[in-house]
Amino acid sequence: MTANASAEAYQTGAKTSLPRILLVDDRPENLILLEKILAKMGAELILARSGRRALQVLEEQEIAVCLLDVSMPEMSGIEVAHQMQLADRFHRTPVIFVTAFQENSELVTSAYEAGAADFLMKPLRPNAVRAKVNLFLELYGQRRDQELSNGRLRLQQHDLLTRNEELETDRGETASVVRELEARRTQLERENRELEGFAYVVSHDLLQPLRSVIDYLELIEHESGSSLSKEGVRWLKSCRKLGGTMSTLITEALEYSQLAAGTTALVETSCNAALQDALDLLNAAIKQSDARVTYNPLPAVRGSSRLLTRLFQNLIGNAIKYRGADCLHVEIRSEWDERYRKWLLCVKDNGRGIPVDDQTRIFEMFFRVRDAASIAGSGIGLAICRRIVETHGGEIWAKSEPGRGSEFWFSLDPAAPVEN
Ligand code: ADP
Repeated sequence: MTANASAEAYQTGAKTSLPRILLVDDRPENLILLEKILAKMGAELILARSGRRALQVLEEQEIAVCLLDVSMPEMSGIEVAHQMQLADRFHRTPVIFVTAFQENSELVTSAYEAGAADFLMKPLRPNAVRAKVNLFLELYGQRRDQELSNGRLRLQQHDLLTRNEELETDRGETASVVRELEARRTQLERENRELEGFAYVVSHDLLQPLRSVIDYLELIEHESGSSLSKEGVRWLKSCRKLGGTMSTLITEALEYSQLAAGTTALVETSCNAALQDALDLLNAAIKQSDARVTYNPLPAVRGSSRLLTRLFQNLIGNAIKYRGADCLHVEIRSEWDERYRKWLLCVKDNGRGIPVDDQTRIFEMFFRVRDAASIAGSGIGLAICRRIVETHGGEIWAKSEPGRGSEFWFSLDPAAPVEN
């Protein structure tokens, strides 16, 4: 940046933002001459007629360059420069000595010792004066620019430090939220375990007296059935039937509460064998419903054969229970999911299907589709299926077209790495 440009930069409105040149001479005619020479330098000229006055000006204002007459009566230019050197604040103001004593080496030495930046010899040549002063104005402008950019850098550094502190605070807050969540999760797990323990105790303790009640009802029917009215026998039968429904419900709730994730050992298990066991258990129902069950060879997975048998049994059992008017066809197949590296198994039927809104809710405990109210059930079967699949680290979902059939899909880990 040139001195003029730097002058422009500081000239934003206030005249005082121009660089200042201090002219010090005891003779007014010399000051007038200098003033004339430097009139168009784009700087504010400040005149001082004594060394003392010059020091006062320096005390009050920032000066870009000082032109100092060497021989002044009261305080010489060299003395003024010494005083300037002593005052830390003025140290950086360059001094150009103005002198008539050429070749005076003693003076030159003491002037340099006093911090002289340059010399101007009398009689003054205007061009030489302007060139030298211009050089120092340029240096001053550069120093100001440097200070400005240093100031900007300090501001940016300050901003960065503040941002860093904010980030540190955020990190601290995130860590405390994570700790809180972790504590909440542990608490929930504990509460869940307590709830499961409670469900187990309640179901277990309910089941025994209920079975005794059913046994007694059977005994009454058997022993005193002939002495009862027709209505009495009907009521007794209803009681036994309701008792049976309650007993199934409690047994299933008990089974559900015992299926806590992570409590079952998972080993290499053949899905073919688990399916076969389930079909054996369902043999009577399959025959009775005249269902056609078809399947492809299924994979070996990481699982529990007891639980997988139960899973197939519940899903195929439901297909039979909720069959439609057409002859029932249940199809079981599997496919490899390369993206998630899991086996996907599907139990498909051509039964009554499930209303779209209920398709995610059917896996909730005790949820039953409204149209299914006429068919005996507890609403726990699919909740058990979900628990079993989750115990295996998989997911289960249903796709269904009401009136046309349903597909139940679940994912399982392979028993061994699968090569494609
Ligand atoms: P439950 O059969 O004892 O009612 P589930 O949990 O096994 O309980 O099933 C929940 C609901 O899902 C059932 O009430 C039934 O309406 C519906 N559902 C389950 N499987 C099928 C299926 N294969 N076809 C049609 N609806 C089904």
